[in-house]
Amino acid sequence: MVRDQVEARGIEDQRVLDAMREIPRHCFIPEEFRHAAYDDRPLPIGSGQTISQPFIVGLMTSLLELRQTDKVLEIGTGSGYQAAILSKLAQTVVSVERLHEIASKAKALLQHLGIIHVKIVVEDGTLGYHPDAPYDGIIITAASPDIPAPLIDQLADGGRLVAPVGSRDLQQLVRIRKQGNRISCENFGGVVFVPLLGRHGWKE
Ligand code: SAH
Repeated sequence: MVRDQVEARGIEDQRVLDAMREIPRHCFIPEEFRHAAYDDRPLPIGSGQTISQPFIVGLMTSLLELRQTDKVLEIGTGSGYQAAILSKLAQTVVSVERLHEIASKAKALLQHLGIIHVKIVVEDGTLGYHPDAPYDGIIITAASPDIPAPLIDQLADGGRLVAPVGSRDLQQLVRIRKQGNRISCENFGGVVFVPLLGRHGWKE
């Protein structure tokens, strides 16, 4: 999966590729879709939510340009797969999920896999998570109409934020970089994510 779907499409960061080789993706997929765990597509994870396709996980993770000492915030825990990958690349991972049921499943699974330094919080992630701010990296794994302002506030100087931004049906994958009071933005093309629902996201 990693060689054909991620490396072959231009993801070169060895640390990201190694992390993806290390984390068993099938553990994060419900039984009935497990046969497709390593296919090149997103898959349902229950409650109407999806786990992203492997290439998108690789791309977003490498765009974060993580260093081992970094603190990362993920919005949209879902299955916990992305958080597990991040845990191999950064010192601290905080992941925010709005649905209790999804969050507790992810928490139990990460614990089972021995990944103990991921903090999962049940909140509206469009507000970020103040107690551990600022973050060197922020990744939003749900589609947002705009980058929620609290998340830009909680980004450290030199920090990177990666998110799908656009309409409910189609978004552009963007990376924001904060340098002093300067914010720069790059676009990495079209993607489709489930909606980010909350105060600074879509209304239900
Ligand atoms: N990163 C996940 C996939 C995320 S799917 C993985 O690796 O499997 C998107 C997730 O975002 C869903 O679980 C959804 O419930 C959650 N979500 C949507 N709006 C949110 C919000 N405002 N705050 C936190 N989580 C949110």
